[in-house]
Amino acid sequence: MGHGIDFALDEEQLMIVDTVRRFVREELLPHEDQVERDDHVSPELAHEIRAKSRAAGLAAFNMPAEVGGGGLNYLMQALVERELAQVGWGLHVHVARPSKILMACTGDYQRETYLLPCVAGEKTDCFALTEPGAGSDATAIQTRAVRDGEDFLITGSKHFISHADVADFTILFAVTGTQEYKGRRRNEVTAFLLDMDTPGLEVQPARGATANRGYHTAALFLDNCRVHERNVLGTVGKGWDEANDWLTAGRVMVAANCVGQAMRAQDMAVQWAGERVQFGKRIGDNQGVSFKLADMATGIAAANLLTLDTARKMDAGVMTDAEAGMAKLFASEVLGNVVDDTVQIFGGLGLMHEVPVERLWRNARIERIWEGTSEIQRHIIAKSLLGAR
Ligand SMILES: Cc1cc2nc3c(=O)[nH]c(=O)nc-3n(C[C@H](O)[C@H](O)[C@H](O)COP(=O)(O)OP(=O)(O)OC[C@H]3O[C@@H](n4cnc5c(N)ncnc54)[C@H](O)[C@@H]3O)c2cc1C
Repeated sequence: MGHGIDFALDEEQLMIVDTVRRFVREELLPHEDQVERDDHVSPELAHEIRAKSRAAGLAAFNMPAEVGGGGLNYLMQALVERELAQVGWGLHVHVARPSKILMACTGDYQRETYLLPCVAGEKTDCFALTEPGAGSDATAIQTRAVRDGEDFLITGSKHFISHADVADFTILFAVTGTQEYKGRRRNEVTAFLLDMDTPGLEVQPARGATANRGYHTAALFLDNCRVHERNVLGTVGKGWDEANDWLTAGRVMVAANCVGQAMRAQDMAVQWAGERVQFGKRIGDNQGVSFKLADMATGIAAANLLTLDTARKMDAGVMTDAEAGMAKLFASEVLGNVVDDTVQIFGGLGLMHEVPVERLWRNARIERIWEGTSEIQRHIIAKSLLGAR
């Protein structure tokens, strides 16, 4: 079954999707086995992917054209993410998507030191919010930034920070005071642009993880890191507002990524069910197998429509947090079912490294956890139904 392009794309948009599909097939997939084996993408390969994706016009496709980015709307970004998801994060992360929150950069200094070099592919950022004591409850972060003249001194720690080991700087969230929020006092948080070579900042790569080989996280330890006030991203004390806008949009892109992964798994499951013969017939001729395929196709079709429709709402400026949450929740859970069923359809082979099924199964697991767990998405959705307290 095809995964036809919906939403009435024009010729240029279809061409972009086609370019990405070809790029993934020719430039990323051939490296997949090696990255799985090594759990490592060499700096040379990363550099090559960045250069080629720039040449293909894909680098910074998520950033507005006025800062030199691809200028794609959210619907198109979702379609590009869906294609990139045919390989794991270890490889497609090098088709650079700078954190959209960098659009909050103001003034020549921030734009020329951080925003524009990221869009041009000369610098890489990482996003540091999560801490050992503050995961789902990000409001509990304890990293503190204390004013010292024109500077801030930042002390604390972060963990699970994606590609902090290779980034040039981090967008780091720290407590700078407390504020009244819905009748309670809560931490007032500020976002900082912090260079990774700042004295007092130590980066400790994580020991490894199950999902997405070649894609690594690190812990950050900050001991009185001095940063000038010109490195405040946005407004002092308004870090949550900056982060929330970006995180909500990011959830829709995660959903699109999940749909892409699920489509790849489904293609493999259908092919195998049609080829593998047991008891003298194709395994797909048994209802026990064919109904799995039917459920996969139905789930993916629904997740795809929901995700693209949510992206379109975001383009129209009418998307709610709950709608972004629904897309992320549904697409990531559909993906989980699809990859699990795909392993089942492949039988023992589904767990062997020689076919890409087990890696899809492993990679899928993170999608229900990062960018807000499934439970947190349900909270957001339920709150919008019941009204917040
Ligand atoms: C590979 C990887 C990359 C990451 N990259 C980044 C990054 O670049 N930057 C960054 O800042 N963070 C990053 N994260 C962190 C990620 O966003 C968090 O792991 C995630 O938000 C969950 O937090 P936690 O792991 O502390 O789980 P916890 O918050 O401890 O949750 C544990 C379990 O309890 C459940 N739970 C918690 N509260 C509730 C509740 N109120 N109701 C019901 N259930 C609840 C959760 O849903 C979950 O199932 C990354 C994580 C991973 C694993």
